[in-house]
Amino acid sequence: MMTGKEYRESIRRLKPEIYYLGEKIDNVADHPAFLPHVNAAALTYDMAQAPEFEELLTAKSHLTGQKINRFTHIHHSHDDLVKKVKMLRALGQQTGSCFQRCVGFDGLNSVYSITYDIDQKMGTDYHKRLVNVLKEIQSKDLMVSGAMTDVKGNRRLSPSQQKDPDLFVHVAEKKKDGIVVRGAKAHITGGVNSHGHLVMPTSAMKAEDADYAVAFYVPIDAPGVVHIFGRQTNDTRKCNCFMDQGNVDYGIVGGEALIIFDNVFIPWEHVFMCGEYEFAYELVERFATAHRQNYGGCKTGLADVLVGATYALSQVQGTDRASHIRDKLVEMAHLTETLYCCSIACSCQGYALPAGSYMADPLLANVTKLNVTRHVYEIARLAQDIAGGILATAPSELDWKDPKVGKYVEKYLKGVEGVPTETRLRLLRLIEGMTCGTALVESMHGAGSPQAQRIMIERQANLERKKRLAEKLAKIGEQPLLVC
Ligand code: SF4
Repeated sequence: MMTGKEYRESIRRLKPEIYYLGEKIDNVADHPAFLPHVNAAALTYDMAQAPEFEELLTAKSHLTGQKINRFTHIHHSHDDLVKKVKMLRALGQQTGSCFQRCVGFDGLNSVYSITYDIDQKMGTDYHKRLVNVLKEIQSKDLMVSGAMTDVKGNRRLSPSQQKDPDLFVHVAEKKKDGIVVRGAKAHITGGVNSHGHLVMPTSAMKAEDADYAVAFYVPIDAPGVVHIFGRQTNDTRKCNCFMDQGNVDYGIVGGEALIIFDNVFIPWEHVFMCGEYEFAYELVERFATAHRQNYGGCKTGLADVLVGATYALSQVQGTDRASHIRDKLVEMAHLTETLYCCSIACSCQGYALPAGSYMADPLLANVTKLNVTRHVYEIARLAQDIAGGILATAPSELDWKDPKVGKYVEKYLKGVEGVPTETRLRLLRLIEGMTCGTALVESMHGAGSPQAQRIMIERQANLERKKRLAEKLAKIGEQPLLVC
């Protein structure tokens, strides 16, 4: 397993093509715009080395018997699924941000099981290829991004109906030794600081979309792979205002990128689906279930930090003994634990797939994520309520440090006696970063938008069975039992 330092060195050695704010970036490991995301990912390596987190962050490879980082593991029990959720909460508590490695983790588990199913039905050898790549990922402890969401163009049209054929990633050419792919994937978490990308189809496909039913692994610096890093709220603060960032070390979310595949060659050994359109939907559902399972883990870790920051701020501002403040803090904690319950429940209700790997219960995993799109907003709303309007109007770190006006900021923004103004400003900035802008949008749309969860809940909820239960008790179509 790598340490965080070795991870940083490993991505420093790579030469991916990355652009940000109109500039080509040569080294993400040391650039301030990327550093928080690199730091958060590095912690997934360092915490795996720490004895107190060993049980959660490491596992035994079912392929080699070696100790591996859990982010490269294939779940083989309920215990694995529960440990995953606990690991994510622990990492969320330490980073207060997104540590990015879960998407590739979920992608590997989903592709592992679906390649087995494809081979059983079609006589292909995708699973063996995936196992070989997985062994390398486990032994080198690579960070893999999961690239699923296509840019999609006109949402009314299927992949093959789009005027521009490249709006979904597809096979542009088949060669003797591999395929050439073209297209783009959007919002890819950890997209610029991973070692490679696991690319998967984004939706159900029909026969005419067969060229779009493609899954593969590609190193981040393969020729033709171009990354354009997205903007986040307050991202310019990364360059000149350390305190104003709030979470200086780990930032506010994962750092997402648009990844373009401009005629990229993929050798057959790295191709895990190529035209088997009938399996595209099942792959998407397994991946979505795995990633939605996570959100009551990582987001509850973040919520723990936010509840703590809000409580500390109420003490600094002298409101902590007011009963309505304590009520709101309790409500924040209640919502946090509700989310955690959902993630633990969908893990305990998980089951084995034909490949022998385990996946969480799809209905409960979708409920988990749909709750996140509401509860995280409510937790943030309560934090903002307790913090007060100063959350949006506090002067910058530069004014606080200014030789002329700094003394006014120090004097007039002070809270209770004995606590420095700096403490109040730091807590406000942390809460601001965690409850405004990009951080909230991530809770809404990360792992799929709310409507995607509703569709899956409708599919799994079995309304017909519920109707029959009601009809039976209401004696619809039956004679009532005589009770007297
Ligand atoms: Fe992992 Fe959560 Fe970030 Fe998704 S949002 S990659 S589950 S930390």
